[in-house]
Amino acid sequence: MARIVDVDVMDIRFPTSRELDGSDAMNPDPDYSAAYVVLRTDTDAEGHGLAFTIGRGNDVQAAAIRALAPHVVGRQVPRDAAALGALSRELVGDSQLRWLGPEKGVVHMAVGAVVNAAWDLAAKLAGRPLWMFLAEMRPEELVGLVDFRYLSDALTRDEALAILRAAEPGRAERTKLLLDKGYPAYTTSPGWLGYSDAKLTHLARSAVADGFDMIKLKVGGDLGDDVRRMRLAREAVGDGVRIAVDANQRWDVADAVSWMSALAEFDPYWIEEPTSPDDVLGHLAIARALRPIRVATGEHVHNRVMFKQLLASGAIDVLQLDAARVGGVNENIAILLLAAKFGVPVCPHAGGVGLCELVQHLAMFDFVAVSGTWENRVIEWVDHLHEHFTDPATVRNGRYTTPTTPGFSAQLRPSSLHHFTYPSGPAWAPTPGHSRAYGPLSEAQHVHKPANGEEGDEGGTA
Ligand SMILES: [Mg+2]
Repeated sequence: MARIVDVDVMDIRFPTSRELDGSDAMNPDPDYSAAYVVLRTDTDAEGHGLAFTIGRGNDVQAAAIRALAPHVVGRQVPRDAAALGALSRELVGDSQLRWLGPEKGVVHMAVGAVVNAAWDLAAKLAGRPLWMFLAEMRPEELVGLVDFRYLSDALTRDEALAILRAAEPGRAERTKLLLDKGYPAYTTSPGWLGYSDAKLTHLARSAVADGFDMIKLKVGGDLGDDVRRMRLAREAVGDGVRIAVDANQRWDVADAVSWMSALAEFDPYWIEEPTSPDDVLGHLAIARALRPIRVATGEHVHNRVMFKQLLASGAIDVLQLDAARVGGVNENIAILLLAAKFGVPVCPHAGGVGLCELVQHLAMFDFVAVSGTWENRVIEWVDHLHEHFTDPATVRNGRYTTPTTPGFSAQLRPSSLHHFTYPSGPAWAPTPGHSRAYGPLSEAQHVHKPANGEEGDEGGTA
């Protein structure tokens, strides 16, 4: 039986803050980064995974992944649901590391990176893209992957089993549909805060021409600017195209309500991350005040227990699961099942580096084997850094192309790993005008000033 013999952890950073693409109200200058993990075995097979961060702190994230290595090195390669469930439970259950969370933050994201790498390895050995590997599992195997602790007041194992069994009859048809048509996407590309009005208008028109029926705009910098930008975007795309907006946690509850009320005339489809991702009651108050505008969140929601509360209280209308924020595939299956139980559509968060590649598999698995529908569901698309992956995510005519290569699609090319290793890679060599890698922190890095409209607002997260 093959064994895992080593855990390689790499600090990979892309100097995206040097460019002017991408910007939001809370993240002025991110360098899209991956704390990248490779599970090596005593065969040729490898498992690749990552935790996404936005620059400094990626070394901390990498250290947390290394701290999990003793659970993995020497272990038999997990190839089936039982072994992958056991691995996830052991990693989450490390009591000394759990103290640092529990089940949240750097350590939990490290668990997610290792669990996802193990799934990549298992799917490759099964010769299946991850979505298909999952979608071919029996309902009993799938519920065996889920930790129902802290969930049973909202979702029992039997209820989860019933959801999965109800979706079994149509699996083959939906698999075929997925392979033929791909999965619906929306684009965030037109909407970065730093773009000029002309660029916003041009990119919004281009998105519609490229087949998207939904775009997203960043908001929360300056209300007057947001009203003008929303008007321009609505004029550019017409009434038939959905426009979501994203405040990236910028507001207090009352600010969210008043700001969005001012934008309501332009028919925003959802307001994303209006306030702190931990504020369940705040989201509920915002949702009650703003409906029919939907409230969406998830990219910073740190575990299934938070999602349980957001769903059970009726605080969110759209659930934005993230492949690399929680404890990996296993916990995301719990989150998909919770969303199905409460009838809330899952529209995954993506962008950054590798998040589109990873999360497409979870949405596609959901379509085939959990919710059984893609109605009102879309995966975020940001066309950035895909060229560094061996099996890059692609979008055509506003839809993700369904991946068919075995694995979880998060494997970076060897040349990219070399070039973007921090701080020794060639991408980080000091050059005139770009010496930041070794220089003092910029003012924006020292102190984040969230006052409206005072920042450069360049660089951001989706
Ligand atoms: Mg967002």
